[in-house]
Amino acid sequence: QGDSTDFDRAVKSVCPFCGVGCQVSLKVKDDKVIYVEGIDGPANEGRLCVKGRFGFDYIHHPHRLSVPLIRREGAEKGLNVDPGNWAEVFREATWDAALEAAAKGLGGLRDTHGGRSVAGFGSAKCTNEEAYLFQRLIREGFGHNNVDHCTRLCHASSVAALMENVGSAAVTATFNEIENADVAIVIGANPIENHPVAATYFKQFTKRGGKLIVMDPRGQSLARHATHMLQFKPGADVSMLNAIMHVIVEEGLFDTQYIHAMTENWDAMRAHLADFAPEKMQAICGIPADTLRAVAREFAGAKAGMIFWGMGVSQHIHGTDNSRCLISLALMCGQVGRPGTGLHPLRGQNNVQGASDAGLIPMFLPDYQSVADDTLRGNFSALWGGAEFSAEKGLTVTEILDAVHEGQIRGMYISGENPAMSDPDVVHAREALAKLDHLVVQDIFLTETANYADVILPAAAFYEKSGTVTNTNRQVQMGRPAVPPPGQAREDWAITIELARRLGLDWGFTHPSQVFAEMKQGMASLENITWERLEREGAVTYPSLTPDDPGQPIVFADAFPRAGGRAKFTPASVIAPDELPDADYPMVLTTGRQLEHWHTGAMTRRSKVLDAVEPEANCSLHPSTLRHLGVEAGGMVRLSTRRGSISVMARADRAVSPDMVFLPFAFVEAAANILTNPALDPYGKIPEFKFAAVRVDAVTDT
Ligand code: SF4
Repeated sequence: QGDSTDFDRAVKSVCPFCGVGCQVSLKVKDDKVIYVEGIDGPANEGRLCVKGRFGFDYIHHPHRLSVPLIRREGAEKGLNVDPGNWAEVFREATWDAALEAAAKGLGGLRDTHGGRSVAGFGSAKCTNEEAYLFQRLIREGFGHNNVDHCTRLCHASSVAALMENVGSAAVTATFNEIENADVAIVIGANPIENHPVAATYFKQFTKRGGKLIVMDPRGQSLARHATHMLQFKPGADVSMLNAIMHVIVEEGLFDTQYIHAMTENWDAMRAHLADFAPEKMQAICGIPADTLRAVAREFAGAKAGMIFWGMGVSQHIHGTDNSRCLISLALMCGQVGRPGTGLHPLRGQNNVQGASDAGLIPMFLPDYQSVADDTLRGNFSALWGGAEFSAEKGLTVTEILDAVHEGQIRGMYISGENPAMSDPDVVHAREALAKLDHLVVQDIFLTETANYADVILPAAAFYEKSGTVTNTNRQVQMGRPAVPPPGQAREDWAITIELARRLGLDWGFTHPSQVFAEMKQGMASLENITWERLEREGAVTYPSLTPDDPGQPIVFADAFPRAGGRAKFTPASVIAPDELPDADYPMVLTTGRQLEHWHTGAMTRRSKVLDAVEPEANCSLHPSTLRHLGVEAGGMVRLSTRRGSISVMARADRAVSPDMVFLPFAFVEAAANILTNPALDPYGKIPEFKFAAVRVDAVTDT
């Protein structure tokens, strides 16, 4: 494909980091990726950010797992393993021996304590086919639904609200539709850092006159392009959004025709909003009433408006309520289903949309079909050769680890997830992992979670495998192997199939295309999308209406996929964060990502360029807070919450307010989740990563 002589071949694939899903061309020489270029994918049109362009070399890092490992008899479980020197804790094994040990451990627990004693975490970094096989293994092999993945930690509350009120968990319009909008809201998201290529479209939109409204408790550089920046008080989203909707009702700015034709429960919504006058809410949310009124008029007056949101919205105990408000705001203004309109939760991981679609969640089978529905469950049972599994919703990520502490779950199969870093109150999570009778970890590195494993199965990285992924835009895209995996590492789908076989499930798949063909039998969303089309076209957006249709960027023009075809207004009341600041813990802690680092850092901290740009654990504090503490920018501070404390380098950052700390969660040496609050949103079961009461002290003993 390439015409240059500095590489042997060029392979088209998809960036393995964020949900934007940029298409890439991988330039390969001597079976090594030597550089990466953006190509003309539907989401990126040749653009890449720093992670996509420079963050590929982790796949060649010497820490890559290349042989199966089994824990040595008596070796203690804990964060005690050097990922480059594991020989004292683990011994090399053949694939046969490792798979036998994994199957014997998990199967033995099933046979002795019942299927419910084993749970699984799959991965949003694996392909659709791998996510599908993983959930099938837990459901068919263990007879229940205790299977989940990191969507529980990112957009589960958005999914809950979208399913409830719109009838579909995916975006109603691609982010590229912003080019047809005249007003857009970005709330609880920092796309320049977390969805950088999407942010380039947002900036272009403002250059051609589009009005951008940014709302976030933390300042950000996208605000430079905004007509309004609403830096509201942390946790005050619902009061602010209800106040904006109050104005739209009070001033009669809503779209009566749309509301009557396309929605239900308007009267209840209207009555509920009466209590939220901006003059009353301004003290709660910290935004002046005049600004709330101006923003309401701007959005309601738009010919075409879009709403984008991120984890600042979803990671609260009121995350579902936050999303309900955003859905209601769009519905009352008739801003769904037309060019330049829509609801778009910016999905985080490269395949979190696809993994959720594929059923890697405890309450839904593939395509969000309820496990509790006998007919739908029966369809999958028939597809899976008569497999029997429970009608009861399974446990979610944090509930599974709680169940380990309670002795109900004794074994786990974890593929590509790192709960020893990613879960809230991570000491509690690590204690759960240590307590397991049998833990099988399948990954590309010896992660913090693998430190607790009994068996480690070495997996292929994304650029080493075949399979499809689905981005935030509902675009199903083809990933292709550019280089072979190191040593004996294997593609995840192949490992799961072998483990399943040893647990008594002989599926007979020999290629992911066969898995995709089976998925199509149970997933209406994949209609008209075939493996061959994806190989040929690279990407197809679902829904695709005909075998030639590239897919529909905008959905729900005429009806919503709910009974009666109408979307619903669900009023949301103000709920305080779970843990409010007090005399002992007077400030607010919020956590998130940085441009250069991806999630728990397993990949990006092993990428030379990214690690060189952002090598050290850090937190951000307002300059006045640093002055008050007597700490210079670059000095060390101690952050303490009710769950633990860490020491970390402090940066001066005017984007955070003086009573707030921002802490990235990619650094194991200052693990943010030692501090975070595990309190859950009752609907999405997502933890409150975005709000914990914290104390900040100067470190004087260095
Ligand atoms: Fe990769 Fe996301 Fe950057 Fe695109 S925007 S190159 S998908 S990390």
